[in-house]
Amino acid sequence: MSANRVIGVDLGGTKILAGIVDEQGTVHETVERPTVTTSQTALLDELADVVRALPLDGVRAVGFGVPTRVDAARGMAVGAAVNVPVRDVPLRDEMQARLRLPVEIENDASCAAYAEFTFGTGRGAHDLVMLTLGTGVGGGVVTAGRLYRAWTELGHMVIVADGIPCQGACSGRGHLEAYCSGRAVDGIARELLGPDATAHDLVKAEHPALGDVGHLLGIGIGSLVNIFGATRVVIGGGFGAAAFDQLVPAARLGVLQEALSPAGQSLEITRAELDAAGVIGAGLVAFEAL
Ligand SMILES: [Zn+2]
Repeated sequence: MSANRVIGVDLGGTKILAGIVDEQGTVHETVERPTVTTSQTALLDELADVVRALPLDGVRAVGFGVPTRVDAARGMAVGAAVNVPVRDVPLRDEMQARLRLPVEIENDASCAAYAEFTFGTGRGAHDLVMLTLGTGVGGGVVTAGRLYRAWTELGHMVIVADGIPCQGACSGRGHLEAYCSGRAVDGIARELLGPDATAHDLVKAEHPALGDVGHLLGIGIGSLVNIFGATRVVIGGGFGAAAFDQLVPAARLGVLQEALSPAGQSLEITRAELDAAGVIGAGLVAFEAL
């Protein structure tokens, strides 16, 4: 059984992290390289190179977590990624042709959610939602113990009707990402603390403005609980992990306001705990390709 291994690859905006993952969720050898941004073909070739840099003995499949929407049935990366040259590409087939191994792909935040559910702070939950609060806001959903393999672009859920414009290529208004992402809170920090301030400075100062962010986060979480019946919500991402303690008390009140009873009272909100959730989750998705 020790030979039952896969490779998980986490494609991020600045780096590619790949690792050998076993069925216990342990990450063995890893390789990290800067993300190639010159062209899509160059990036896909580099992804294959990163995989080949790992010992392939006993490796049965490869999973890729990518920062785009994913059409799981067709193995397509749909739409465009921010800062990464991937756009409307049949990624599963492209990587399978390069690697000659079974390949599966999934959205990066969905991979993280699946990893936290299986091996991290989501253990023991049956229905779980994860929100990654980083530059943007990503999300993943586990329902009845299985990864919900739809778009789950939870960051683009409307929490304020006709609210402020969303980030990047999104033309919507009032989306969770426009209020609760690290980038959005960087903007709040500049307004409150000066032109060089970042979200990190607000966290360091334990600034009450984070309570307002937490409130809106809770409004969003309340709706997610009503839709998915989640009993546990995991908060991850760079900003989410750093600001967790200052966001959650206000978020909890927002959840109580919006979630149907008794789900709001019993909901657990926990901080992501895995170091390489993206790699582990991509590995889990790879196991499902077998
Ligand atoms: Zn949006």
